[in-house]
Amino acid sequence: MIMARRMTLEGAHVKAVFEIMPYPSGLPRNIEQCLNDYGIPLYLSHTVTDIHGKTRLEGITVSKVDENLKPVPGTEQEIACDTLILSVGLIPENELSIDAGVELDPRTRGAVVDENFQTSVPGIFAAGNVLHVHDLVDFVSMEAESLADSAAAYIENGGFAPCGLLVKAGEGIGHTIPQKISGTKDITLSMRPSRQFKDAAVAVSQNGTVIARKKMKKAIPAEMIELSIKKETLSDKGDLEVSIEC
Ligand SMILES: Cc1cc2nc3c(=O)[nH]c(=O)nc-3n(C[C@H](O)[C@H](O)[C@H](O)COP(=O)(O)OP(=O)(O)OC[C@H]3O[C@@H](n4cnc5c(N)ncnc54)[C@H](O)[C@@H]3O)c2cc1C
Repeated sequence: MIMARRMTLEGAHVKAVFEIMPYPSGLPRNIEQCLNDYGIPLYLSHTVTDIHGKTRLEGITVSKVDENLKPVPGTEQEIACDTLILSVGLIPENELSIDAGVELDPRTRGAVVDENFQTSVPGIFAAGNVLHVHDLVDFVSMEAESLADSAAAYIENGGFAPCGLLVKAGEGIGHTIPQKISGTKDITLSMRPSRQFKDAAVAVSQNGTVIARKKMKKAIPAEMIELSIKKETLSDKGDLEVSIEC
């Protein structure tokens, strides 16, 4: 959506944006400010199924997709165009993480970190888009400040309390950060819902008891959710599970 606006500002005629999911995967404000403000249509549940042209792009075929994201035969629509921009998901840039040998999380596709933003390699920390993709830079700044405090504590004390409790993504949750905690200090969990919810609540349970809950009018995969948990409500035994209730 941001590229659609940029291309328009540079003088291109952007015919449409096609999204395979039945809901927008970008921020609502970007739908308004990047598409609606410029009269660029957004087609949900659509994908590109063919590309035409030999030495130069001449057009594409777009099809509707069903609930399994498979193109529906008979819904093909040909669109003449000379440029196709594929913007099909951000993932953390992992070259440094892989070279450093840190454990990666298949859900975030970034490093696994504990409550101190420390990776599986002691003394190596990760925050921001190399950890998980952020929609707002404000969250990146806050993570970075916490990381800096942890790095200073690591230098002063040489290590942290063991983080043996897992934070598991339950029903309706795509991923959580951090993935491991000690249960001995205040934590802020960052997460993304795996689909859209209305009038829902995000709940964190430990040892069969809900220890934190936050009501939300809506939850969408494009927007990160943050939830703080005080150490008084945490036990130093028992994994945490985060899920969405609706
Ligand atoms: C198209 C787009 C538009 C956005 N618009 C907004 C917005 O309007 N408002 C907002 O709040 N947020 C916006 N965001 C989100 C915001 O940009 C990110 O959340 C934020 O920039 C992440 O900060 P970061 O420092 O973690 O990563 P980045 O900003 O990605 O910085 C990482 C840096 O590391 C460098 N790097 C990578 N590998 C190496 C290496 N091996 N050695 C040295 N350097 C390396 C990269 O070149 C890059 O400069 C947008 C994101 C995108 C993709």
